[in-house]
Amino acid sequence: MLSKRLLNFESFEVMDILSLAQKLEKEHKVIHLEIGEPDFNTPKSIVEEGIKSLKEGFTHYTDSRGILELREKISNLYKNKYKADINPDNIIITGGSSLGLFFALSSIIDEGDEVLIQNPSYPCYKNFIKFLGGKPVFCDFTVESLEKAISNKTKAIIINSPSNPLGEVVDKEIYEFAYEYIPYIISDEIYNGLVYEGKCYSAIEFDENLEKTILVNGFSKLYAMTGWRIGYVISNKKIIEGVLKLQQNLFISAPTMSQYAALKAFEKETEKEINNMIKEFNRRRKLVLKYVKYFGWKVNNPIAAYYVFSNIGEDGREFAYKLLKEKYVALTPGIGFGSKGKNCIRISYANSYENIKEGLKRIREFLDER
Ligand code: PLP
Repeated sequence: MLSKRLLNFESFEVMDILSLAQKLEKEHKVIHLEIGEPDFNTPKSIVEEGIKSLKEGFTHYTDSRGILELREKISNLYKNKYKADINPDNIIITGGSSLGLFFALSSIIDEGDEVLIQNPSYPCYKNFIKFLGGKPVFCDFTVESLEKAISNKTKAIIINSPSNPLGEVVDKEIYEFAYEYIPYIISDEIYNGLVYEGKCYSAIEFDENLEKTILVNGFSKLYAMTGWRIGYVISNKKIIEGVLKLQQNLFISAPTMSQYAALKAFEKETEKEINNMIKEFNRRRKLVLKYVKYFGWKVNNPIAAYYVFSNIGEDGREFAYKLLKEKYVALTPGIGFGSKGKNCIRISYANSYENIKEGLKRIREFLDER
């Protein structure tokens, strides 16, 4: 018999759609607009550094905090970009930001604690919170809704900016409100850097001494390193000491070759490749928005990450499954991200321009034929 804790855990709807798409793929060309993973390969210099580290024998555990060189580079990045008061002791390298998020929540959540999350938001948040005995409280990210959602049990808020699934950034006033009234701010900044218009804040700009902030980031999205499983947590020393105990017990250390490979993410040549990737994402975003407007679907302001979350005016799950079965285009139903997503679908533009265009044309056909 599975534990009650695990029974409470929900599967990831995007994975269910993916497995159906993969079945259909045996006989049809399926266009994947569901997966939230860059189609680009990891920049060459990063790959080469990973291989070099293996050849040189860096195949052992590292310090549980992560190698000092990488923590120094991350620390310098936040110091230079945001003038934060940070040093390598404020950082721990984790097996992807997923593990970082789980560690962040584990370090502060007690039974019955409430955590505010945006409706809609990344599905793992509610699962992790429940798994730890906490209570996810969905709300809109407006000051008015946050005021209503706060209680004396509120322990934290998770801010995800840029956001999955919305592809939007969170306003300054939300950070200001959170820092004034909520004990901890967990800031998932995994899409930081993938911003095509306007400004995206980092939580560290509101809390230079990291008193309330647990910032989670990683290399998966901006550096196309999903398979390397490497991320990090930044916080005050007390939280980091707590996370360190979890890391030692659960994971020992992040993958060694990935830590060495990630050192190259900070080099000029990598920056060039990343900038080209960002330009291409923006080109695809404009294409998706052009079609979505033509379809008459509603969107807010998708200016970041690689998602367009759109209200299609009918049940998103039914639509997505029907579209996949009839036109072989995979989209993610919005409901998995929260009740507000019921009539929505998420389009991921982490696929080639040509494939996206083909997928959008098939959606147009599907709509025209009804
Ligand atoms: N946070 C958000 C909002 C995500 O969308 C994802 C992955 O899709 C993650 C965290 C996990 O990323 P990783 O564990 O690869 O760093």
